[in-house]
Amino acid sequence: MMTSAEPAEKLLSPVLSASWDDHRPWALDTYRRHGGYDGLRAALAMAPDEVIALVKDSGLRGRGGAGFPTGMKWQFIPQNDGKPHYLVVNADESEPGTCKDIPLLFANPHSLIEGMVIASYAIRCNHAFIYLRGEVVPVLRRLQAAVAEAYQAGYLGKNVLGSGTDLDITVHAGAGAYICGEETALLDSLEGRRGQPRLRPPFPAIAGLYACPTVVNNVESIASVPPILARGKDWFKSLGTEKSPGFTLYSLSGHVTNPGQYEAPLGITLRQLLEISGGVRAGHRLKFWTPGGSSTPMFTDEHLDVPLDYEGVGAAGSMLGTKALQVFDETTCVVRAVTRWTEFYAHESCGKCTPCREGTYWLVQLLKRIEAGQGAPGDLEKLLDIADNINGKSFCALGDGAASPIVSSLQHFRAEYQQHIDEHRCPFDPAASTVWA
Ligand code: NAD
Ligand code: SF4
Repeated sequence: MMTSAEPAEKLLSPVLSASWDDHRPWALDTYRRHGGYDGLRAALAMAPDEVIALVKDSGLRGRGGAGFPTGMKWQFIPQNDGKPHYLVVNADESEPGTCKDIPLLFANPHSLIEGMVIASYAIRCNHAFIYLRGEVVPVLRRLQAAVAEAYQAGYLGKNVLGSGTDLDITVHAGAGAYICGEETALLDSLEGRRGQPRLRPPFPAIAGLYACPTVVNNVESIASVPPILARGKDWFKSLGTEKSPGFTLYSLSGHVTNPGQYEAPLGITLRQLLEISGGVRAGHRLKFWTPGGSSTPMFTDEHLDVPLDYEGVGAAGSMLGTKALQVFDETTCVVRAVTRWTEFYAHESCGKCTPCREGTYWLVQLLKRIEAGQGAPGDLEKLLDIADNINGKSFCALGDGAASPIVSSLQHFRAEYQQHIDEHRCPFDPAASTVWA
């Protein structure tokens, strides 16, 4: 359990980010100097099932948002089924406020590659894919260069480090659709089709890429595997909480003095992260924040001491999600903020199901009207009614995510919405807020 009595900076636990300030941290030599590829050697000395058991026992949970146990996901892959198995890394990071995988890949691409070789060995996969957000061309180039380095050094290709196992990695650049971060839409896109979610079950572990057993894991999840192999599950479990063990990357953004990535054990609080990072911008106070991107119900200053782990955030009524901590101070109009997020969801809705396709469009129309001071009595009930018809009734999690900021902002700031309607104007000066100026 972490307490505020400890010096603030001691609460950080740089593992994935330990080398980020080094000269050329992305180079293979730098990575090796920090113990890089030691985890792979440890894994290759074990049987594949032992690697799966170790990752399962470590308690590592998926860092893409849902927190599903990583080792359990690997264990779902059927063995001796005569089909090829695939590993697909979801590097299509795009949840608003989320900026951890892209910096990780830019600074330290070999941590992902090493994790992929270990995971592929464990699930008996000979061809793995990285589905990368295509707009980030410098990261694409860096990743491609790192993959080439890994082939040359014998970590990829035929007979990896003399182990008798083969592995090829393909880096695929997506075309920039948020929905392609949904794992089954990503698989469709990778197969060359329009990226739209598939019905689950079957989950990808049973029928994924080319209808074969496939593990889809987030970048940070896979990059967290090599340190577990190198240092052991007990070390990993000594960090974080009992049910949410380990270290993780939190992305701090918005009205804060020092935005950026902060790596800390799960269970740290926003109060502690703000102490470490210099706090809310000078002269201002916290109004609301998201624990895991805009899809997760928002929190207020009452939630500063909520432990940022899956159980703590869940018990407080939200979700840890991608750990994207977007902070807004008292100059922010909550209606404007929610309108901007909802516009994003309406734009990114893939159109496959009616509640999300139509509902997000209606939400935007209503929100814009309220923000412009032209709202009518009954509009707030209408907002909640539409959100209720999206939430749980859409085909994939994008619909639920779109409804989430509407419901939670009305729960915490209904009076502010009502003020827009009653006074026929927005009570905030847009020039005072710098977040979306
Ligand atoms: P989910 O809980 O449905 O599934 C999580 C993972 O577990 C999936 O890989 C799924 O295949 C697997 N799984 C679940 N049950 C299974 C079973 N019975 N058998 C085999 N495998 C099983 O969550 P989801 O819909 O995949 O993802 C939603 C999350 O994505 C949200 O929590 C959100 O935070 C996150 N998200 C992240 C981003 C980003 O940019 N990183 C963007 C949008 C959403
Ligand atoms: Fe597409 Fe939205 Fe339906 Fe998901 S919820 S399938 S994004 S229309």
